[in-house]
Parts: sequence; structure tokens; C-alpha cells
Amino acid sequence: PYDVLVVGGGPAGASAAIYAARKGIRTGIVAERFGGQILDTLSIENFISVKETEGPKLAAALEEHVKQYNIDVMNLQRATRLEKKDLVEIELENGAVLKSKSVIISTGARWRNINVPGEAEFKNKGVAYCPHCDGPLFAGKDVAVIGGGNSGVEAAIDLAGIVNHVTVIEYNDSLKADEVLQNRLHTLPNVTVVTNAQTKEITGTDKVNGLTYVDRESGEEKHIELAGVFVQIGLVPNTEWLEGTLERSRFGEIIVDKRGATTIPGVFAAGDCTDSAYKQIIISMGSGATASLAAFDYLIRN
Ligand code: FAD
Repeated sequence: PYDVLVVGGGPAGASAAIYAARKGIRTGIVAERFGGQILDTLSIENFISVKETEGPKLAAALEEHVKQYNIDVMNLQRATRLEKKDLVEIELENGAVLKSKSVIISTGARWRNINVPGEAEFKNKGVAYCPHCDGPLFAGKDVAVIGGGNSGVEAAIDLAGIVNHVTVIEYNDSLKADEVLQNRLHTLPNVTVVTNAQTKEITGTDKVNGLTYVDRESGEEKHIELAGVFVQIGLVPNTEWLEGTLERSRFGEIIVDKRGATTIPGVFAAGDCTDSAYKQIIISMGSGATASLAAFDYLIRN
């Protein structure tokens, strides 16, 4: 069996695997797609100490660093079941069962897509999901935020300080964000809120140039000119496969303590799949290191 088996090969998983291997213990990492979300990221400007890089470049660097150590890398393998017996068992889609004394889950998350024409086509060409990451790319320009929940309104407040103008597009007849956020939003001079708006299409040529929505009251179709569209309708953790095992929040996030421990002894979690406060590369790498050190602590005590 492994001493530490990491499930998930994004920034959190790579960090956890390296920290474990550096203890000289038997370490494996299983990933459906090594690299994770950063494979879909164009420019990264907030990975501290690296002024600017590209997602695939950072993913290649992660892989190279992992390969520096004696780590079993099992890429293109999807975990489908976890069971705690004497050891922790992880079953893969191909039927294989891996056993380990401890497991670190770092299966990440995915942004919920709006699934309208133009979204996929203009991803990284004006369609964005992370205001902390991509906000500065739209400095002085006009953008829309789709979604009037907490993340949408937080994004709009954040972007309003950077861009020229923000239009918040909400499907329902009112925003769903907390009142304090809505109050703050309404004090901003360069934000417009459109409710009852069903996004129909994100338009553009080589990059985004606007958004078409249907006014659900009048049925009228409207178009606004924009340089960017932030889709903020939810971040979904990749934890469905853990149903009925460890404790998750109502959003499906794995609940961890400050060491990354879950409700199953010997099972730890890190990164975007957990209930950590913010979801960023540098944060997931830090939590991967934390979970790995905690797993090592667990091993020397058990
Ligand atoms: P992920 O990166 O999601 O990795 C999860 C890993 O688990 C993947 O290898 C995946 O294949 C694997 N996996 C999932 N399910 C299973 C399973 N059942 N079995 C096996 N493996 C599985 N953050 C920044 O700090 N700066 C940025 O500029 C930035 N830009 C972004 C741009 C975009 C378009 C997106 C989508 C995100 C961006 N982020 C950015 C956020 C950042 O990418 C994430 O916070 C970070 O990747 C989280 O790392 P993670 O390891 O927790 O999860």
C-alpha cells in the first residue's frame, strides 16, 4: 500500500505529493487530468514570485517538479469510490483498487457554465470566470457579470474599481446576494443592474464584443456592447463521487479543519474541493502542503 495517496493532480495535489515524497514515504498521485483548472487558464499574474505565466506552462512545471521525486503518477485515471477499511481504498473507473494508509483528496472544482452560444468559443477571449485573476485585463473597459448571487455581486463590486462600467445580469426579478453586498453595489456609480434578463448569446468576432439577452417581462431582445463577460453562477466542487462518505457542506465542499483533516481519520483534503475561504492557485498549493504535513503527522502516530 501507499503511505500517502493523492487523488487529484492540480496545484493542490502536486503540492501535497511533493511534500509527502520529501518525507521519504511511499507516495502516489491519481489524476483525471494532471494540471487541473490551470490547463484552461491563459495568463496567470497572481502566482506570487512569478510575474506572468500561462496555465499550461505552469502545469508543465508542476509535472516536472513532481517527476523530480519518487512519486507514482497515474494520469488519466478517475477515482469513483472511497472506502475506509483498515486502509483507505480508492477505486478507479477502470476497476482497479488502490490502497493507502492515508489519502489526500484534491479533486478541485469547476465553474458552472451558462451554456449559451459564444461562451465556449470566447473562453479566455473575453469570457472569464475569476475576477481576482482576470479583472485587470479589462481595466478601463465595459464588462458584464452574469449572476446576481453573492459571487456575482462581489465580482461586480470588485470589477467596478478596475473597469469602466459593469452591468450585472440577473435572471430572476431580484438579486440574491446578501443585503450588505447589494447596498454596497448600489452606491457605485458605474454599475447597472438588469433583472429578469435571460442571457441568450455572448457575441464577438475574434473576441467578445457584447451580450444579447431577453427581457423576460417584455420578451424583447436587447444587446449591450462589452469587452468582457464574467460568468458567476457557481463553482461546483468535484466531490460527487464521495457521496455518503465524509462530511460535505451543502454546496458539496469537503469540510476540513485547519490541518486539512476530513471527518474520516487518515483522509485529508486540500484546494478548491474543500470549504476553504478562497479558491486560488497559491491558496490551493498552500493547503496541499498543509494536508500533506498533517497526513505525515497522522502516519507517525498510527
Ligand atoms: P484543480 O485545479 O481543479 O485540480 C483538480 C484535479 O483533480 C485535476 O487534476 C482533475 O483532473 C482531478 N480530478 C477531479 N476529479 C477527479 C476524480 N474523480 N478522480 C481523479 N482525479 C480527479 N487562480 C489563480 O490563482 N490565478 C489565476 O489567474 C486563475 N485563473 C483561472 C482561470 C480559469 C479559467 C479558471 C477555471 C480558474 C482560474 N484560477 C486562477 C483558479 C485556480 O485554477 C484554482 O484555484 C486551482 O486550480 C485549484 O487547484 P486544485 O488543485 O484545488 O484543483
